[in-house]
Amino acid sequence: ETSAKVIDGKAVAKQIRDEITSEISRMRDAIGKVPGLAVILVGDRKDSATYVRNKKKACEAVGITSYEVRLPEDSTEQELLKYIAEFNANPSVHGILIQLPLPRHMDEENILNAVRIEKDVDGFHPLNIGRLAMRGREPLFVPCTPKGCIELLHRYGISIKGKRAVVIGRSNIVGMPAALLLQREDATISIIHSSTENREEITRQADIIISAAGQANMVRGSWIKPGAVIIDVGINPVDDPNSPRGYRLVGDVCYDEACKIASAITPVPGGVGPMTIAMLLSNTLSSAKRALNFE
Ligand code: NDP
Repeated sequence: ETSAKVIDGKAVAKQIRDEITSEISRMRDAIGKVPGLAVILVGDRKDSATYVRNKKKACEAVGITSYEVRLPEDSTEQELLKYIAEFNANPSVHGILIQLPLPRHMDEENILNAVRIEKDVDGFHPLNIGRLAMRGREPLFVPCTPKGCIELLHRYGISIKGKRAVVIGRSNIVGMPAALLLQREDATISIIHSSTENREEITRQADIIISAAGQANMVRGSWIKPGAVIIDVGINPVDDPNSPRGYRLVGDVCYDEACKIASAITPVPGGVGPMTIAMLLSNTLSSAKRALNFE
C-alpha cells in the first residue's frame, strides 16, 4: 500500500519567513529602513481579532513594522476611508490590509477600491485581480492564500504546465484567484461550485486539486485520480469529544482516504494555513523593495 507524500506547509512557511528575515536585515543595514504593514480591523469578531493578532506577531518576528487600527463596529465608511487615505499617504507603510469581513453596513467594494494598488498586499483590488486574469499583464500582488498554494507546488517540484487542475470553490479570496493562477501556470482548469453537477467525476479527472469549499471531508477517496496532488485549503471545525476544546479542524478532503490514493497532500492544519501569513509577509517585503527601490 502506498502513502502520499505529506506537503509540509509549516516547514516551508518557516523557511520563507527565515528568507524574509534575512532580506529585511539586509535592507535595514543598507538603507536604514524596514517594511511597514498597516492592518485595519472594524468591529469585534473574535476570529478576525485572532487573525489580526497573528499577523502582527508574524510581522514582528521578521522585522516588519506593524501599524494597527481598530474601529468600533458602528464606525462609518467615511471614518474607515480616512484611515485608508492616511496609510495610502504614509511612506513608512508599504502594505494596507483591511481585515474581512467588514460590518454589513459597509460597502466592501468601495473600501477595497480605496487602497492604493501599490499597497494592496492582499491583492484584492480589482485592478490587481483584473491583471491576474489577463494575458500579458502582471498584477502587483497576488492574493496570499492561493499564492501560498502555488508556492507549495513549486517548492515540492510539482509541475503544473499542461496538467488538469480542478479548483473546488470560487470565492474572490481563494477559489477564483487560485484558478487564475493555475491557468497562468499553463494548467487546464475546471472550477467546481455549489451548482456544479457531477462534482465527483470532474474532480476525478484532476492531476492537481485545490479545494476551498469549506465542507468537512467532502472530497472522498473515490473523487481522486490515483497519483493526484491535493492542496486542501479548507479549515473546518468538527465535533471531537476527545479533544480538550471539544472540536478539531479538518480539511475539505477526507485525509485518511486521500492518503492512500494521492501522490502528495497537504495536511490540515499545517498545510496551506501557515503559508497564507508567509505570503502576506512576502508581499509586504516586495512592496517595500519596490517603493524604496531596493533590490
Ligand atoms: P466561501 O464560503 O467564500 O466560498 C466557498 C466556495 O465553495 C463557494 O464558491 C461555494 O460555491 C463553494 N462550495 C461550497 N459548498 C460546496 C459544495 N458542497 N460543493 C461544491 N462547491 C461548494 O469560502 P472561502 O473561499 O473564504 O474559504 C473556503 C475554505 O477555505 C474555508 O474552509 C475557509 O476556512 C478556508 N480558508 C483557509 C485559508 C487558509 O489560510 N488556509 C484562508 C481562507 C479560507 P458557490 O460560489 O456556488 O456558493
